[in-house]
Amino acid sequence: MAVFGTVFMPEMAITTFENDTWSETKFVSSESIPMHPGAHVLHYSSTCFEGLKAFRHDDGGIYVFRMDQNLNRFEQSSQLLNLPAIDKAQVEQMILSIVGQYASDVPEPPGSMYIRPTHVGTEASIGKAAAPSLTSLLYVLLSPVGDYFTGGAKPLRLLLDETGMRCAPHMGMIKSGGNYASALGPILAARSEVQADQILFCPNGDVQETGAANFILIDGNEVITKTLDSSFLHGVTRSSILTLAADLGMTVSERNISVDELLERAAKPGVEAALSGTAAVLTPVGTFIHNDKEYQVGNGEAGPTTQKLRQALNDIQWGKAPDKHNWLVKVK
Ligand SMILES: *Cc1c(COP(=O)(O)O)cnc(C)c1O
Repeated sequence: MAVFGTVFMPEMAITTFENDTWSETKFVSSESIPMHPGAHVLHYSSTCFEGLKAFRHDDGGIYVFRMDQNLNRFEQSSQLLNLPAIDKAQVEQMILSIVGQYASDVPEPPGSMYIRPTHVGTEASIGKAAAPSLTSLLYVLLSPVGDYFTGGAKPLRLLLDETGMRCAPHMGMIKSGGNYASALGPILAARSEVQADQILFCPNGDVQETGAANFILIDGNEVITKTLDSSFLHGVTRSSILTLAADLGMTVSERNISVDELLERAAKPGVEAALSGTAAVLTPVGTFIHNDKEYQVGNGEAGPTTQKLRQALNDIQWGKAPDKHNWLVKVK
């Protein structure tokens, strides 16, 4: 299978915002978009996106997972970036139409169709460094993806960074390109200097998230993760895993965790750590790196509770367990 995110369906759904209105949805080639070189997004990063998935069930049905949550976050990101307000009903239809068009290309589990709605400011004005774009482009791009874990889920090495930040704190809950650009330099440095896979950003000792995933600590029957605030991205996977943990009778604690507490707990038997996100679902963490010391999490291997929670989520997504929370929307 090709590298994640490098294969695209030939067409996408698209709409433009001009004169205070959204155009009718069109279906166009996904090879290129028309854009002025002075477009607002190219200079002042007026851009946000979403990531969600459609799954194929054994009966041949195609289902999108928690689309309402992604639409709400897309609306919020657009609003916080002062982009034109999206029309959620239209974007929902765009997602359902384009996934429906490519229903036969949705891979079998463990694969899925990754859906990437994207919204960018297009006004041709390099004078608008401190003013919003009055026009925008919104499209829904599709990328069939395979199992993120071919070769097994190798536990990750995370560098705990207490001095840096992933992004400016008031940008944390916006799914916006600039935030990834902001985190890239530190992540590349952590890879080459201490062979870390990711940085777990912990500004002033407050355990937050990595560059593109939320962080979850498991201690026996308790699942602990940072309580929601505006400094980090509110993952749909995070919320789903917490719900499933509660369904399984686990104690769910949404509260702040300090680096000290994290390192103290890491060595205890029965402790597990994981990253949550749509692409990889739940990825086990095996090692923390802090001030040139390495701390193994539990026994350093993928833990049983991480695997159990990931399976519980996959079972719903793949139609193997009842969809008790009405998370799936049937496309066709
Ligand atoms: C997308 C993303 C997540 C995970 O969100 P999901 O809705 O679970 O996919 C977490 N953190 C960041 C910074 C992200 O961009």
